[in-house]
Amino acid sequence: MFSEKMNRREFLKISGFAALGTVLSAKGVFAQRKKKHCVIIGAGFSGLAGAFKLKNAGWDVTVLEARSRFGGRVFSHRIPENSNLICELGAEWVGEHHERIIALCKDFSLPLQEHRFADSLMQNGKVSRPKTWGLSETSKNKLDKFLKSLDNYSDAKLRLMDKQDWWTVLKNLGLSDEELRLRDLADSTDFGEDIRFVSGYAAAGEYAVSGEFNEMDFKITGGNSRLAEEFVKRIGAENIKLNTLVETVIQSKGLVTVKTNNGKFNADACICTVPTASLQKIKFMPELPAVQQKAAESLIYARIIKNSVLYDERFWEADNFSMVTDATSHYYFHSTQKQTGKQGILTAYAIGDKADVLASQDDKRRMEIITRDLIPFNQNAPALARGIASYAWQRDEFTKGAYALYRPGQWFGVRPYLLKPHGKVLFAGEHLSDDWQGFMEGAIETGEAAADRLIKT
Ligand SMILES: Cc1cc2nc3c(=O)[nH]c(=O)nc-3n(C[C@H](O)[C@H](O)[C@H](O)COP(=O)(O)OP(=O)(O)OC[C@H]3O[C@@H](n4cnc5c(N)ncnc54)[C@H](O)[C@@H]3O)c2cc1C
Repeated sequence: MFSEKMNRREFLKISGFAALGTVLSAKGVFAQRKKKHCVIIGAGFSGLAGAFKLKNAGWDVTVLEARSRFGGRVFSHRIPENSNLICELGAEWVGEHHERIIALCKDFSLPLQEHRFADSLMQNGKVSRPKTWGLSETSKNKLDKFLKSLDNYSDAKLRLMDKQDWWTVLKNLGLSDEELRLRDLADSTDFGEDIRFVSGYAAAGEYAVSGEFNEMDFKITGGNSRLAEEFVKRIGAENIKLNTLVETVIQSKGLVTVKTNNGKFNADACICTVPTASLQKIKFMPELPAVQQKAAESLIYARIIKNSVLYDERFWEADNFSMVTDATSHYYFHSTQKQTGKQGILTAYAIGDKADVLASQDDKRRMEIITRDLIPFNQNAPALARGIASYAWQRDEFTKGAYALYRPGQWFGVRPYLLKPHGKVLFAGEHLSDDWQGFMEGAIETGEAAADRLIKT
């Protein structure tokens, strides 16, 4: 995957240009014959990016979305107690290497603002300031060397690593128990579960691609949902059907018919961008191959709850404040960087079992726990809290989690089956991205790649 990655990136760049060529010539072609029609299932970033690309190439598109809103797992939010402030209950960061999302923001005149952080650490109630904690120099060098060496690994060696979990891979590199615990606290916020449950290959792949960068660099000024809004303007709101749950996808005589709770849609092709929890519920005629169905059943999504708490004062002081903790609230960061006002929002981002504990409480109890966990950092935190907005993604009806969690053995054992087109149905979505799985970039890149494939056929 690692040397392929470069090729793939290059390919995407080339295919971007190729697609532009297709757009120009397609106009002439489609002016002379009936326009092709694609039904896209899901109005998340993957579906919207795919629809936008197809529309530009002269296709008719219909996007079917089960929710009453578009954007999927991108979900900007205003807390009622101070609606001037915006936080993200879904995707937060745009990485500096996320080329497609950055390019789209530029094309749509959406400014990106810096959203970088310096992590403190709170362990057993003791706070360590940024850059005073972490791996020893020796362990850092070992990890660095390991990530750089992956390019030379054979396929067999990479498959073996996929069967191991990330904790074991790190342990075998020689990290001490204390270092492993620290990495678990920090890395589990990237994968959404304890690193003992994460494929060693999937984790190594992510860190090898981003290198010393953590891809937590920017956000869209005014909220990440603005990109969804801009897509919708260009695709045409009339082409996006909200509250429309896809139930059945039938393929017959070269046509695709998509049945929903809201009517039937015929098309020449279909791009299905739904997470695996939803894919399992859609009936395909002819059926998906058993191995693909099984793959969908076995790929689960990480348990993450985001809790954005509004405080009367920004007692954390630094605009780039964030803190990894060993408490239930897990990871705090300042959500209202560069947004003016005395009040501010600190989001607690909890994963795995901690996410389930917080999800079981009501808002009042959740706010008590989250602000109480902060007492060693600032004893006034509970008194300053004014309101809370939480979203537990593991309880979301359509995703049952935040993003795909490739467990040991699954990157090579499951992903290839999910990628396979089924007749005229192509699959896309964050979970299928190679370089950027788990990111908005991965959603966009796979949606565009599926559209490209249709444009070229
Ligand atoms: C808590 C959290 C934090 C994250 N942090 C980041 C981050 O910092 N940076 C980053 O880049 N990414 C982050 N992500 C990941 C990012 O949000 C996703 O990778 C991306 O938004 C996924 O887009 P998608 O289009 O693949 O899927 P989705 O956004 O899930 O879109 C799929 C759509 O299909 C719809 N659907 C499902 N079933 C049906 C059906 N039967 N009929 C019709 N419609 C259906 C769903 O309602 C949904 O709208 C985060 C996600 C979460 C939840």
